[in-house]
Amino acid sequence: MKWLPILKECSCKIRRAILPLFGTNEASKEFGVGAGGDTIKEIDLAAENALIQTLQNHKVSCTLISEEAGIKEIGSKPKSFYLTVDPLDGTTNAIRGLPFIATSIAVSKTLNLKDVEIALVYDLIYNVTYTAERHKGTLRNGEKVKPSPTTSLEDAVMGIDFNTLKIEELLTRLTPLLQKTKHLRHFGANALELCYVADGTIDTFIDIRGKLRVTDIAAAYLILREAGGIMVTPEGTEINVPLDPAQRVSFIATANTTLYENIRARLTEH
Ligand SMILES: [Mg+2]
Repeated sequence: MKWLPILKECSCKIRRAILPLFGTNEASKEFGVGAGGDTIKEIDLAAENALIQTLQNHKVSCTLISEEAGIKEIGSKPKSFYLTVDPLDGTTNAIRGLPFIATSIAVSKTLNLKDVEIALVYDLIYNVTYTAERHKGTLRNGEKVKPSPTTSLEDAVMGIDFNTLKIEELLTRLTPLLQKTKHLRHFGANALELCYVADGTIDTFIDIRGKLRVTDIAAAYLILREAGGIMVTPEGTEINVPLDPAQRVSFIATANTTLYENIRARLTEH
C-alpha cells in the first residue's frame, strides 16, 4: 500500500479547504465538543471533511483516530491500518491568521505510538512537507534533513509549551532550565514545532504539561526520531502510549543526546 502519495493529496486538499477560512470570523464558528475535549470550530471541520473525503475517494480501508471525530472506521477492512490524525494543528493560529499551522497524519498497523511506520506533517501556509518512513530517514520537501549540532543551553533555540492552568507547578519545574535559556520560543502548533527540531530550525521542544494529545505528536514522533533527534518522556524513557484520542503525553524533544542531557540535568535540579 503506497500511503505517502495519498497522504500528500490529503494535505493539499485540506490546504485548499482551510485557506479561505484562515484568519476570518467564520473560521471560529463552533460545532460542539470533539473527542479530545476541545470545541470543534468551522475550520477544524473543513480540514477533517477534506481528509475523510480524500481517503474515501481513494477507497482506502482504515480506522481514523482523530482529535475531532474520535474513532471513525473507513472502508471495508478498517482494522488493516490506523491513521492517527490532527487535520488542523494550531486552530487558534488559524483563526487569528497566524501563519503557523499544519496537518499531521501517522500510519500504523497497531494502536501504539512506537509502531507508527509512515508519517507526514504539512506546513499549510508555507507549503512544506515533512515525511518519514521507518528506517528510511526524514525528508523535508523530498530532501534529507537532520537536527542541529547545538549542545549548549545558552545557544539553544528552545520551544516550551506553557499553556496550562497549573502554571506555578510547571514554572517550579522549569525555572532552573529557564535561568540558562536565552532564546525561548513557542509557535502554537506542536506537530510543526517538533518538525522544526527535526530539520535543525530550532534545537529543542519541551512539553511537560501532561495535556498534549497523542494525536498531535504521532506523526512528528517518527519524523523527529528518523531524522536522528531524541524524543522521550521527561523521565528519559520511551514514550510508550496507545494511539487513542484521549491519550495525553509529556516529552522532551531535542536535536541530540548532549543537549538532552544538559536539559535533563537542569530539570532534575529543583
Ligand atoms: Mg486540531
